[in-house]
Amino acid sequence: MEKYAQVEDGADGARYPFWALVRDDLWVLDRGEDLVLTSRGQRPTLESLDRFDPAGGLREDDYSLLQAHPEAAASVAAGLILRYFYPLPPNLLREFGLHELLTGRWADALRPQLGETFKDRDAIWRAYGGQKMAGIGCLADGILSAFSDEKGPYNDSRIPDTNWIAYVGDGLSGDPKITDGNELMAEYQAAGRPLRYWHKPYQGQFSFETWAVITQRRFRWGRGADKEWRREFHWILAPVPSPERETWPADVLEALDADTGTLYDDTDSYHPGDVDPKARDTSESDEDAYRRLTQNAEANAKRRGQLKKPSLADRFVRDASARAAVIRRSKGDCESPECAGHPKELTTAGNPILQVDHVQDLAKEGSDVPWNMIALCPNCHALKTYGVNREKLRRLLAAVAKRLHAQALR
Ligand SMILES: [Zn+2]
Repeated sequence: MEKYAQVEDGADGARYPFWALVRDDLWVLDRGEDLVLTSRGQRPTLESLDRFDPAGGLREDDYSLLQAHPEAAASVAAGLILRYFYPLPPNLLREFGLHELLTGRWADALRPQLGETFKDRDAIWRAYGGQKMAGIGCLADGILSAFSDEKGPYNDSRIPDTNWIAYVGDGLSGDPKITDGNELMAEYQAAGRPLRYWHKPYQGQFSFETWAVITQRRFRWGRGADKEWRREFHWILAPVPSPERETWPADVLEALDADTGTLYDDTDSYHPGDVDPKARDTSESDEDAYRRLTQNAEANAKRRGQLKKPSLADRFVRDASARAAVIRRSKGDCESPECAGHPKELTTAGNPILQVDHVQDLAKEGSDVPWNMIALCPNCHALKTYGVNREKLRRLLAAVAKRLHAQALR
Protein backbone atom coordinates (compact mmCIF):
# COMPACT_ATOMS: atom_id res chain seq x y z
CA MET A 1 0.00 0.00 0.00
CA GLU A 2 2.79 2.42 0.83
CA LYS A 3 4.72 1.75 -2.32
CA TYR A 4 1.94 1.65 -4.88
CA ALA A 5 -1.21 3.28 -3.59
CA GLN A 6 0.37 6.55 -2.46
CA VAL A 7 -0.97 5.86 0.98
CA GLU A 8 -0.25 8.55 3.49
CA ASP A 9 -0.47 8.07 7.18
CA GLY A 10 -3.58 9.68 8.59
CA ALA A 11 -7.20 9.27 9.47
CA ASP A 12 -8.41 8.82 5.89
CA GLY A 13 -5.48 6.83 4.61
CA ALA A 14 -5.78 3.20 3.71
CA ARG A 15 -3.67 2.42 6.73
CA TYR A 16 -6.07 -0.20 7.98
CA PRO A 17 -7.32 -1.79 4.79
CA PHE A 18 -7.52 -5.11 6.57
CA TRP A 19 -9.99 -3.63 9.03
CA ALA A 20 -12.37 -2.77 6.21
CA LEU A 21 -12.02 -6.37 5.05
CA VAL A 22 -12.69 -7.64 8.56
CA ARG A 23 -15.87 -5.61 8.71
CA ASP A 24 -16.95 -6.90 5.32
CA ASP A 25 -16.45 -10.40 6.67
CA LEU A 26 -13.75 -11.17 4.08
CA TRP A 27 -10.75 -11.27 6.41
CA VAL A 28 -10.28 -13.25 9.56
CA LEU A 29 -8.04 -12.04 12.40
CA ASP A 30 -6.45 -14.32 14.87
CA ARG A 31 -7.30 -12.88 18.34
CA GLY A 32 -9.26 -10.07 16.68
CA GLU A 33 -11.59 -9.93 19.67
CA ASP A 34 -8.70 -8.87 21.92
CA LEU A 35 -8.04 -5.66 19.99
CA VAL A 36 -9.00 -2.35 21.58
CA LEU A 37 -10.90 -0.01 19.30
CA THR A 38 -10.45 3.75 19.00
CA SER A 39 -12.93 5.93 20.85
CA ARG A 40 -15.22 6.13 17.83
CA GLY A 41 -14.92 2.41 17.25
CA GLN A 42 -13.70 2.84 13.70
CA ARG A 43 -10.55 0.75 13.93
CA PRO A 44 -8.15 -0.86 16.41
CA THR A 45 -5.69 1.36 18.26
CA LEU A 46 -2.06 1.23 17.20
CA GLU A 47 -1.13 0.27 20.73
CA SER A 48 -3.29 -2.82 20.73
CA LEU A 49 -2.08 -3.83 17.28
CA ASP A 50 1.50 -3.57 18.55
CA ARG A 51 0.67 -5.62 21.60
CA PHE A 52 -1.15 -8.51 19.89
CA ASP A 53 0.37 -8.31 16.39
CA PRO A 54 -2.51 -10.42 15.10
CA ALA A 55 -2.08 -12.73 12.15
CA GLY A 56 -4.86 -12.70 9.58
CA GLY A 57 -5.98 -13.79 6.18
CA LEU A 58 -8.83 -14.54 3.88
CA ARG A 59 -11.62 -16.67 5.14
CA GLU A 60 -10.92 -20.34 4.54
CA ASP A 61 -13.65 -20.80 1.91
CA ASP A 62 -12.68 -17.66 0.01
CA TYR A 63 -9.05 -18.65 0.09
CA SER A 64 -9.87 -22.09 -1.33
CA LEU A 65 -12.07 -20.54 -3.99
CA LEU A 66 -9.33 -18.19 -5.20
CA GLN A 67 -6.74 -20.97 -5.06
CA ALA A 68 -8.85 -23.35 -7.09
CA HIS A 69 -10.26 -20.87 -9.63
CA PRO A 70 -7.75 -18.62 -11.38
CA GLU A 71 -10.63 -16.84 -13.18
CA ALA A 72 -12.10 -15.79 -9.85
CA ALA A 73 -8.70 -14.66 -8.57
CA ALA A 74 -8.05 -12.73 -11.78
CA SER A 75 -11.43 -11.07 -11.49
CA VAL A 76 -10.72 -9.94 -7.93
CA ALA A 77 -7.22 -8.72 -8.79
CA ALA A 78 -8.30 -6.90 -11.95
CA GLY A 79 -11.17 -5.18 -10.17
CA LEU A 80 -9.04 -4.02 -7.25
CA ILE A 81 -6.19 -2.86 -9.46
CA LEU A 82 -8.47 -0.88 -11.73
CA ARG A 83 -10.23 0.68 -8.81
CA TYR A 84 -7.29 1.61 -6.59
CA PHE A 85 -4.01 1.40 -8.50
CA TYR A 86 -4.63 3.07 -11.85
CA PRO A 87 -2.64 4.11 -13.83
CA LEU A 88 -0.87 0.85 -13.22
CA PRO A 89 2.65 1.29 -11.75
CA PRO A 90 5.17 -0.56 -13.95
CA ASN A 91 6.30 -3.24 -11.52
CA LEU A 92 3.21 -3.85 -9.48
CA LEU A 93 1.90 -6.89 -11.34
CA ARG A 94 5.29 -8.56 -11.47
CA GLU A 95 6.18 -7.84 -7.88
CA PHE A 96 3.00 -9.44 -6.64
CA GLY A 97 3.07 -12.34 -9.06
CA LEU A 98 -0.06 -11.08 -10.77
CA HIS A 99 1.47 -10.62 -14.19
CA GLU A 100 0.90 -14.18 -15.29
CA LEU A 101 -2.50 -14.29 -13.68
CA LEU A 102 -3.72 -11.24 -15.59
CA THR A 103 -1.91 -11.26 -18.94
CA GLY A 104 -4.49 -11.48 -21.70
CA ARG A 105 -7.19 -11.92 -19.11
CA TRP A 106 -8.19 -8.43 -18.12
CA ALA A 107 -11.18 -8.21 -20.36
CA ASP A 108 -12.51 -11.61 -19.32
CA ALA A 109 -11.71 -11.13 -15.67
CA LEU A 110 -13.95 -8.13 -15.23
CA ARG A 111 -17.71 -8.49 -15.25
CA PRO A 112 -19.84 -7.34 -16.98
CA GLN A 113 -18.21 -8.32 -20.25
CA LEU A 114 -18.29 -6.19 -23.36
CA GLY A 115 -21.57 -6.48 -25.21
CA GLU A 116 -23.63 -7.71 -22.26
CA THR A 117 -27.16 -6.44 -22.75
CA PHE A 118 -29.92 -5.68 -20.28
CA LYS A 119 -33.56 -4.70 -20.60
CA ASP A 120 -33.12 -1.62 -18.42
CA ARG A 121 -31.09 -0.04 -15.64
CA ASP A 122 -32.93 -2.02 -13.04
CA ALA A 123 -31.72 -5.28 -14.60
CA ILE A 124 -28.11 -4.02 -14.59
CA TRP A 125 -28.47 -3.09 -10.96
CA ARG A 126 -29.84 -6.51 -10.05
CA ALA A 127 -26.90 -8.24 -11.79
CA TYR A 128 -24.03 -5.93 -10.84
CA GLY A 129 -25.23 -3.67 -8.04
CA GLY A 130 -23.92 -0.17 -7.49
CA GLN A 131 -25.98 2.96 -7.90
CA LYS A 132 -29.32 2.45 -9.51
CA MET A 133 -30.44 5.37 -11.61
CA ALA A 134 -27.98 8.27 -12.11
CA GLY A 135 -26.46 8.65 -15.58
CA ILE A 136 -22.93 8.45 -14.18
CA GLY A 137 -22.04 6.13 -11.31
CA CYS A 138 -20.19 3.04 -10.19
CA LEU A 139 -21.28 -0.58 -10.30
CA ALA A 140 -20.69 -2.56 -7.11
CA ASP A 141 -17.07 -3.21 -8.17
CA GLY A 142 -16.43 0.52 -7.79
CA ILE A 143 -15.56 1.09 -11.45
CA LEU A 144 -17.24 4.05 -13.11
CA SER A 145 -19.99 3.60 -15.69
CA ALA A 146 -21.34 6.31 -17.98
CA PHE A 147 -24.86 5.52 -19.25
CA SER A 148 -26.17 7.00 -22.47
CA ASP A 149 -29.87 6.63 -23.23
CA GLU A 150 -31.05 7.95 -26.60
CA LYS A 151 -34.49 8.44 -25.17
CA GLY A 152 -33.12 10.24 -22.12
CA PRO A 153 -32.75 13.96 -21.50
CA TYR A 154 -29.08 14.16 -22.54
CA ASN A 155 -27.98 14.79 -26.09
CA ASP A 156 -24.91 12.52 -26.24
CA SER A 157 -23.43 12.03 -29.69
CA ARG A 158 -20.74 10.33 -31.70
CA ILE A 159 -18.26 12.85 -33.08
CA PRO A 160 -18.32 12.65 -36.91
CA ASP A 161 -15.26 11.11 -38.59
CA THR A 162 -14.26 9.30 -35.38
CA ASN A 163 -15.89 6.82 -33.06
CA TRP A 164 -15.30 9.23 -30.16
CA ILE A 165 -18.23 10.30 -28.04
CA ALA A 166 -19.28 13.71 -26.74
CA TYR A 167 -20.93 12.69 -23.47
CA VAL A 168 -23.11 15.28 -21.75
CA GLY A 169 -22.38 15.48 -18.02
CA ASP A 170 -24.63 15.26 -14.99
CA GLY A 171 -27.21 17.92 -14.20
CA LEU A 172 -30.72 18.14 -15.65
CA SER A 173 -31.08 21.91 -15.71
CA GLY A 174 -29.09 25.02 -14.88
CA ASP A 175 -25.32 25.26 -15.20
CA PRO A 176 -23.53 22.05 -14.17
CA LYS A 177 -21.30 21.65 -11.15
CA ILE A 178 -18.32 19.42 -10.43
CA THR A 179 -20.28 17.27 -8.02
CA ASP A 180 -21.71 13.75 -8.10
CA GLY A 181 -21.19 12.10 -11.49
CA ASN A 182 -19.18 15.04 -12.87
CA GLU A 183 -16.81 14.82 -9.93
CA LEU A 184 -16.21 11.13 -10.63
CA MET A 185 -15.65 11.89 -14.31
CA ALA A 186 -13.08 14.57 -13.37
CA GLU A 187 -11.25 12.06 -11.17
CA TYR A 188 -11.16 9.49 -13.96
CA GLN A 189 -10.01 12.14 -16.43
CA ALA A 190 -7.16 13.22 -14.15
CA ALA A 191 -6.02 9.63 -13.60
CA GLY A 192 -6.50 8.52 -17.22
CA ARG A 193 -8.52 5.64 -15.85
CA PRO A 194 -10.83 3.59 -18.09
CA LEU A 195 -14.60 3.58 -17.50
CA ARG A 196 -17.46 1.56 -18.88
CA TYR A 197 -19.63 3.20 -21.51
CA TRP A 198 -23.21 1.91 -21.75
CA HIS A 199 -25.54 2.80 -24.56
CA LYS A 200 -29.25 2.31 -25.12
CA PRO A 201 -30.45 3.06 -28.64
CA TYR A 202 -33.96 4.33 -29.23
CA GLN A 203 -36.34 1.51 -28.27
CA GLY A 204 -33.38 -0.81 -27.77
CA GLN A 205 -31.67 -2.30 -24.75
CA PHE A 206 -28.81 -1.12 -22.60
CA SER A 207 -25.52 -2.71 -23.54
CA PHE A 208 -22.00 -2.35 -22.21
CA GLU A 209 -20.72 -0.98 -25.48
CA THR A 210 -17.07 -0.19 -24.80
CA TRP A 211 -14.36 0.72 -22.37
CA ALA A 212 -13.47 4.39 -22.78
CA VAL A 213 -11.14 7.06 -21.45
CA ILE A 214 -11.82 10.77 -21.05
CA THR A 215 -9.56 12.89 -23.26
CA GLN A 216 -11.11 16.33 -22.80
CA ARG A 217 -13.83 18.33 -21.09
CA ARG A 218 -15.68 21.18 -22.79
CA PHE A 219 -18.42 23.65 -22.00
CA ARG A 220 -21.19 23.95 -24.59
CA TRP A 221 -24.73 25.32 -24.73
CA GLY A 222 -27.56 22.83 -24.44
CA ARG A 223 -31.17 22.65 -23.39
CA GLY A 224 -31.93 21.39 -19.90
CA ALA A 225 -34.82 19.12 -18.99
CA ASP A 226 -36.80 22.35 -18.41
CA LYS A 227 -36.14 23.28 -22.10
CA GLU A 228 -34.16 26.34 -20.98
CA TRP A 229 -30.71 26.97 -22.42
CA ARG A 230 -27.86 26.28 -20.03
CA ARG A 231 -24.21 25.33 -20.14
CA GLU A 232 -23.35 21.63 -20.29
CA PHE A 233 -20.19 19.66 -19.80
CA HIS A 234 -19.20 17.62 -22.81
CA TRP A 235 -16.83 14.87 -21.75
CA ILE A 236 -14.93 13.69 -24.81
CA LEU A 237 -14.69 9.90 -24.55
CA ALA A 238 -12.29 7.81 -26.61
CA PRO A 239 -13.27 4.13 -26.86
CA VAL A 240 -10.49 1.65 -25.97
CA PRO A 241 -10.53 -2.12 -26.54
CA SER A 242 -9.88 -3.11 -22.91
CA PRO A 243 -9.04 -1.58 -19.54
CA GLU A 244 -5.41 -2.54 -20.09
CA ARG A 245 -3.37 0.46 -21.20
CA GLU A 246 -1.09 -1.69 -23.41
CA THR A 247 -4.04 -2.27 -25.74
CA TRP A 248 -4.92 1.40 -26.28
CA PRO A 249 -4.37 2.91 -29.74
CA ALA A 250 -1.50 5.38 -30.13
CA ASP A 251 -3.79 8.30 -30.98
CA VAL A 252 -5.75 7.75 -27.75
CA LEU A 253 -2.54 7.70 -25.71
CA GLU A 254 -1.42 10.91 -27.42
CA ALA A 255 -4.71 12.61 -26.63
CA LEU A 256 -4.39 11.50 -22.98
CA ASP A 257 -0.87 12.87 -22.80
CA ALA A 258 -1.96 16.14 -24.39
CA ASP A 259 -4.84 16.61 -21.96
CA THR A 260 -4.01 18.92 -19.07
CA GLY A 261 -7.49 18.76 -17.58
CA THR A 262 -8.29 22.24 -18.90
CA LEU A 263 -11.96 23.05 -19.27
CA TYR A 264 -12.41 24.31 -22.84
CA ASP A 265 -15.19 26.86 -22.73
CA ASP A 266 -16.98 27.16 -26.08
CA THR A 267 -19.90 29.13 -24.65
CA ASP A 268 -18.11 32.45 -25.22
CA SER A 269 -17.81 31.87 -28.93
CA TYR A 270 -21.55 31.61 -29.69
CA HIS A 271 -24.91 32.32 -28.04
CA PRO A 272 -27.99 30.10 -27.65
CA GLY A 273 -29.75 32.64 -29.93
CA ASP A 274 -27.38 31.70 -32.76
CA VAL A 275 -28.87 28.22 -32.95
CA ASP A 276 -32.37 29.00 -31.61
CA PRO A 277 -34.36 31.89 -33.18
CA LYS A 278 -36.60 32.05 -30.10
CA ALA A 279 -33.63 32.91 -27.89
CA ARG A 280 -32.32 35.55 -30.32
CA ASP A 281 -31.12 39.01 -29.42
CA THR A 282 -33.01 41.16 -31.94
CA SER A 283 -30.69 44.14 -31.66
CA GLU A 284 -27.99 42.30 -33.60
CA SER A 285 -28.44 41.95 -37.36
CA ASP A 286 -28.06 38.57 -39.05
CA GLU A 287 -25.07 39.93 -40.91
CA ASP A 288 -23.33 41.10 -37.73
CA ALA A 289 -24.02 37.80 -36.04
CA TYR A 290 -22.67 35.83 -39.00
CA ARG A 291 -19.54 37.98 -39.08
CA ARG A 292 -19.01 37.54 -35.33
CA LEU A 293 -19.39 33.75 -35.52
CA THR A 294 -17.20 33.47 -38.61
CA GLN A 295 -14.43 35.46 -36.94
CA ASN A 296 -14.59 33.23 -33.88
CA ALA A 297 -14.55 30.09 -36.02
CA GLU A 298 -11.60 31.30 -38.08
CA ALA A 299 -9.64 32.34 -35.00
CA ASN A 300 -10.25 28.91 -33.46
CA ALA A 301 -9.28 27.15 -36.70
CA LYS A 302 -6.09 29.21 -36.88
CA ARG A 303 -5.20 28.43 -33.27
CA ARG A 304 -5.75 24.72 -33.83
CA GLY A 305 -3.72 24.89 -37.07
CA GLN A 306 -0.77 26.27 -35.12
CA LEU A 307 -0.63 23.40 -32.65
CA LYS A 308 2.63 21.54 -33.06
CA LYS A 309 1.08 18.17 -32.40
CA PRO A 310 -2.70 18.34 -32.61
CA SER A 311 -4.36 15.35 -30.96
CA LEU A 312 -7.43 13.60 -32.37
CA ALA A 313 -9.52 15.75 -30.05
CA ASP A 314 -8.02 18.93 -31.53
CA ARG A 315 -8.63 17.67 -35.04
CA PHE A 316 -12.12 16.27 -34.74
CA VAL A 317 -14.02 18.06 -31.98
CA ARG A 318 -16.01 20.42 -34.15
CA ASP A 319 -16.04 24.14 -33.55
CA ALA A 320 -19.32 25.27 -32.01
CA SER A 321 -19.22 28.80 -33.46
CA ALA A 322 -18.68 27.49 -37.02
CA ARG A 323 -21.72 25.26 -36.71
CA ALA A 324 -23.76 28.09 -35.19
CA ALA A 325 -22.78 30.40 -38.08
CA VAL A 326 -24.10 27.90 -40.63
CA ILE A 327 -27.32 27.36 -38.67
CA ARG A 328 -27.90 31.13 -38.72
CA ARG A 329 -27.00 31.43 -42.39
CA SER A 330 -29.42 28.65 -43.35
CA LYS A 331 -32.40 30.33 -41.63
CA GLY A 332 -33.69 26.83 -40.94
CA ASP A 333 -33.73 25.63 -44.57
CA CYS A 334 -31.70 23.07 -46.45
CA GLU A 335 -28.97 24.91 -48.38
CA SER A 336 -28.68 22.47 -51.29
CA PRO A 337 -29.98 24.08 -54.51
CA GLU A 338 -30.97 20.57 -55.65
CA CYS A 339 -33.09 19.90 -52.57
CA ALA A 340 -36.24 18.00 -53.51
CA GLY A 341 -38.09 19.30 -50.49
CA HIS A 342 -37.11 19.88 -46.91
CA PRO A 343 -39.38 18.46 -44.17
CA LYS A 344 -40.61 21.38 -42.06
CA GLU A 345 -41.39 19.33 -38.99
CA LEU A 346 -39.22 20.31 -36.04
CA THR A 347 -37.22 17.98 -33.82
CA THR A 348 -38.53 17.19 -30.34
CA ALA A 349 -36.10 19.86 -29.10
CA GLY A 350 -37.85 22.39 -31.37
CA ASN A 351 -35.05 22.77 -33.95
CA PRO A 352 -35.21 22.41 -37.76
CA ILE A 353 -34.27 18.94 -39.03
CA LEU A 354 -30.89 19.98 -40.39
CA GLN A 355 -27.45 18.46 -40.37
CA VAL A 356 -24.47 20.76 -40.61
CA ASP A 357 -21.86 19.02 -42.70
CA HIS A 358 -18.37 19.75 -43.93
CA VAL A 359 -18.20 19.94 -47.74
CA GLN A 360 -14.59 18.83 -47.64
CA ASP A 361 -14.38 16.39 -44.71
CA LEU A 362 -12.20 17.23 -41.73
CA ALA A 363 -10.59 13.81 -42.20
CA LYS A 364 -9.50 14.97 -45.67
CA GLU A 365 -7.94 18.16 -44.35
CA GLY A 366 -11.12 20.20 -44.81
CA SER A 367 -11.38 23.34 -42.66
CA ASP A 368 -13.77 23.69 -39.75
CA VAL A 369 -15.02 27.11 -40.92
CA PRO A 370 -18.40 28.27 -42.32
CA TRP A 371 -17.34 28.57 -45.98
CA ASN A 372 -16.51 24.84 -45.98
CA MET A 373 -19.78 23.91 -44.29
CA ILE A 374 -23.37 23.52 -45.36
CA ALA A 375 -26.71 22.88 -43.68
CA LEU A 376 -28.52 19.95 -45.27
CA CYS A 377 -31.84 18.23 -44.75
CA PRO A 378 -31.61 14.48 -44.04
CA ASN A 379 -32.36 13.61 -47.70
CA CYS A 380 -29.64 15.83 -49.11
CA HIS A 381 -27.23 14.72 -46.41
CA ALA A 382 -27.84 11.10 -47.37
CA LEU A 383 -27.32 11.94 -51.07
CA LYS A 384 -24.05 13.66 -50.25
CA THR A 385 -22.87 10.72 -48.12
CA TYR A 386 -24.16 7.68 -50.03
CA GLY A 387 -25.49 8.84 -53.42
CA VAL A 388 -23.96 7.53 -56.63
CA ASN A 389 -23.52 11.17 -57.75
CA ARG A 390 -22.09 12.29 -54.44
CA GLU A 391 -18.83 13.60 -55.91
CA LYS A 392 -20.71 15.83 -58.34
CA LEU A 393 -22.99 17.02 -55.55
CA ARG A 394 -20.00 17.72 -53.33
CA ARG A 395 -18.44 19.98 -55.96
CA LEU A 396 -21.72 21.84 -56.38
CA LEU A 397 -22.10 22.27 -52.61
CA ALA A 398 -18.51 23.51 -52.30
CA ALA A 399 -19.35 26.38 -54.66
CA VAL A 400 -22.73 26.99 -52.98
CA ALA A 401 -21.22 27.17 -49.50
CA LYS A 402 -18.66 29.75 -50.63
CA ARG A 403 -21.33 31.80 -52.39
CA LEU A 404 -23.74 31.76 -49.44
CA HIS A 405 -20.86 32.64 -47.14
CA ALA A 406 -19.94 35.69 -49.23
CA GLN A 407 -23.60 36.74 -49.45
CA ALA A 408 -24.06 36.49 -45.70
CA LEU A 409 -21.07 38.77 -45.14
CA ARG A 410 -21.99 41.31 -47.79
ZN1 LIG B 1 -32.40 19.15 -48.79
